Amino acid sequence: MSFRQARWDEPSIWDLAPSDPGPVPEVPGVPERLRRKEGLRWPELSELEVVRHYTRLSQMNFGIDTSPYALGSCTMKYNPKVSEQLARRPGAADLHPYQPVETVQGALEVVWRLERILAKVTGLPEVSLQPAAGAHGEYAALLMVRAYFRDRGELAQRTEVLLPDTAHGTNPASASMAGFTTREIPSKDGCVDLAALRAAVSDRTACFMLTNPNTAGLFESEILEIAATVHGAGGMLYYDGANLNAILGITHPGRMGFDVAHLNLHKTFATPHGGGGPGAGVLAAGETLAPYLPVPRVVKRGRAFSLDYDRPKSIGKIRAGYGSFGLDLRAYAFAITHGEEGLKHVSRRAVLNSNYLGSRMGRYLPRPFRPLVKHEFLLSGAPLKEKGVRTLDLAKRLLDEGVHAPTIYFPSLVEESLMFELPETESKRELDRYYAAFERAVTDTPEHLHAAPRNLAVSRIDEVRAAREPLLSWKDLRAASAKVETP
Ligand SMILES: *Cc1c(COP(=O)(O)O)cnc(C)c1O
Repeated sequence: MSFRQARWDEPSIWDLAPSDPGPVPEVPGVPERLRRKEGLRWPELSELEVVRHYTRLSQMNFGIDTSPYALGSCTMKYNPKVSEQLARRPGAADLHPYQPVETVQGALEVVWRLERILAKVTGLPEVSLQPAAGAHGEYAALLMVRAYFRDRGELAQRTEVLLPDTAHGTNPASASMAGFTTREIPSKDGCVDLAALRAAVSDRTACFMLTNPNTAGLFESEILEIAATVHGAGGMLYYDGANLNAILGITHPGRMGFDVAHLNLHKTFATPHGGGGPGAGVLAAGETLAPYLPVPRVVKRGRAFSLDYDRPKSIGKIRAGYGSFGLDLRAYAFAITHGEEGLKHVSRRAVLNSNYLGSRMGRYLPRPFRPLVKHEFLLSGAPLKEKGVRTLDLAKRLLDEGVHAPTIYFPSLVEESLMFELPETESKRELDRYYAAFERAVTDTPEHLHAAPRNLAVSRIDEVRAAREPLLSWKDLRAASAKVETP
């Protein structure tokens, strides 16, 4: 037997051979200034180092699989794992959007069936699953409104989109992008001020965009008068149904008089929020605007499904492919697993959750407007200002408790607002855990509140710098951490 000393540079199965960056390849036609100056340096890492890197990154993140995620309006629902498994089956995941339709009959049937379900849910007969997100759906719907007024010869005159001050920020953005000017309608006691709306509508009104229940969690009970007012002036009524959690199977935008709506499958129908990846907005239209929906439409003739491009009034195609099919499949699974009664239960539970938690938290902070709300509720952090504490501090302190903060400073009609939504997938036990976290946070000392979060991978970040100079590669991270460690 012979022994010799172990050496670090001896190859082991865990080490990769050092990669040689080599020369920069000559690519004809690529100008000198765009060419890299040196060969590609791949990180040479063992499997263990790669696993640790990604596991560490995943632990720096917050997800619905870890704890309640109370971000109001955003509806952070649990995404059932069975839906994930379904979407990852090769028959779904490996489809190509431009496969011949004869080979994707099953997929088209799922789209068609989901469209039928959503037509029932919205009370609007024609549905398209094409938009990639809520904002994309809004934008497409406003293009439909433009096309409608162009057909009527009123486009030059109807330039204004009206919005309540509780509107989601994407509404005015979409309206501006679609070429309209926007005008804000004030609220009274958290709902649209009908007198102000009556005074604002005119032959310039193209559309009124409304969420109901609104982002203050309140049902706009004057909705039929609102609809009559807008229609009376010749305008269209747009339903922002990104979050439909309060009314599934109970009422619908069709009954309220809306002409067109968008829904977010990634909110109400428990499909993942893309994290920048694909979402799934859905457009639903009543008879007036249905001819303008984007092409292609999925149609059923006999037993065969096909893509119909023959819609002369359509605004055309709004994205590559047909839609986010993986999300459609998950949403379809969610809808048929619940069934019609089950979907009603989703809404009842969401409303119960929000009222239960709202009334308990109301011991500490005022609840604006009314004591009874729908799927989400507001608190005002204004009284904390006496202690020098802001809503931002309370939100950051909640993160230290291992739960996600509510939406903050929105809607802006409430001072220092906090907007909580705990959807139906949260149990009472989880709500009580969230309440305990809130109680510890709101009663903590100003010093602790200002210093929060102290238990997370990063404390308060420079949000502008994080967006402008993100560290996205392993090498950047390593360089940054080396800098921090150097005394
Ligand atoms: C989330 C949301 C939107 C925007 O949806 P995205 O998919 O994020 O573009 C619009 N309106 C309301 C009320 C929302 O909650």
